[in-house]
This record gives sequence, structure tokens and C-alpha cells, in this order.
Amino acid sequence: MKNENVVLETADTYVKIIDKVCDMCGKPMLLLLTEEQQAQYDEYLTGLVYGRRELIQNVLLDFDKFEREFVKTGYCPCCQEKIFQAKFKGKAHKWIALDEETVPPEKYAEFYESVHESANAKLKAGECFDFEQLVVSFLENETWKQKLSVDEKASYLYLIGVESFRLSGDGHVSMLDEESCD
Ligand SMILES: [Zn+2]
Repeated sequence: MKNENVVLETADTYVKIIDKVCDMCGKPMLLLLTEEQQAQYDEYLTGLVYGRRELIQNVLLDFDKFEREFVKTGYCPCCQEKIFQAKFKGKAHKWIALDEETVPPEKYAEFYESVHESANAKLKAGECFDFEQLVVSFLENETWKQKLSVDEKASYLYLIGVESFRLSGDGHVSMLDEESCD
């Protein structure tokens, strides 16, 4: 997200992406979660399912107030600044506005096609492979590694629906669990 209050360096590693469309401005937003946050988020969702009435700040301990509000209402940081007259401060790559600026459609289509070409070739050759792992290997290969920003990589993981990944703040992507073919 382009904002002067975003801290550029981050050593965090993200393992989950949650998405909401902001009710105020209609922008699709992604929020990347660390492993600790993911566990808390899962606990929060379970709480909702079982109707527990625990305060959100007691469950989402590692979320700042902008992140908690986003989980609760889906308001993006820009709109939250306006609604609550609060100053947004966030880490780089944590928030991603899913728009054509962040994810140029042609570039994404090119990536998507090359992954699918490779998948089709493997299928034809009767080769066993894991699709998520294939996507991750493309994000890390010589061609794409340098071409894609961290935000683009996160958006691609989200758009393709890769669920088991690790994305570090320096843009390195790996699988959460390596799948093997037997
Ligand atoms: Zn908004």
C-alpha cells in the first residue's frame, strides 16, 4: 500500500492472506498474517462459530487496531483513518490493495499461463506434481523472482488460491509443508 507511514523493512514471514472488500470505498484489500496471527485468527473464527463472546482484542493479540478493525468490519486502513481520525501506521507488504496498479493484469495472465503450460506438460508426461508447489517454484525461478514485487507475489498466491505457503518480507516464497509424490 502506498502510504508514507508504511515501514519498509520487515523481517516478518506471512503464512495466510485474508481478504475483504471495504464497505466504504469498495476496494478489495488483502491482509497478510504471520503464523502467530494466523493461530489467533483461527481461534477468533472458531469463537464466532460457537458464539463465544470474547472481546476481539483478547483473541487477536498480535493484531494492531487497524488490523482488528479490518477483521471485524472490513474497513480498509484509508477509510479507517477517515472514520476514526486515526493515523495509519503499518508494515510493508502487510496490506495490499488488490488493484491493477499492484497486479497489472497482463503480467499476471502471463504468469498464470506459464504455470498452466508447465502443469499441462507434466500431466501429459504422466509426471506427478503438486500444483501449489509448482506455483511456488515459478515464483522462485530465475524469470519471475526478479520480475515480481513482494506484493505481487502475495497477490498471485492469493489469486491462484495457494493455501500452504511461507512468504518472507524479502520476497522469498516456500511451501509450508513440502508435498511429496509417492
Ligand atoms: Zn476503504
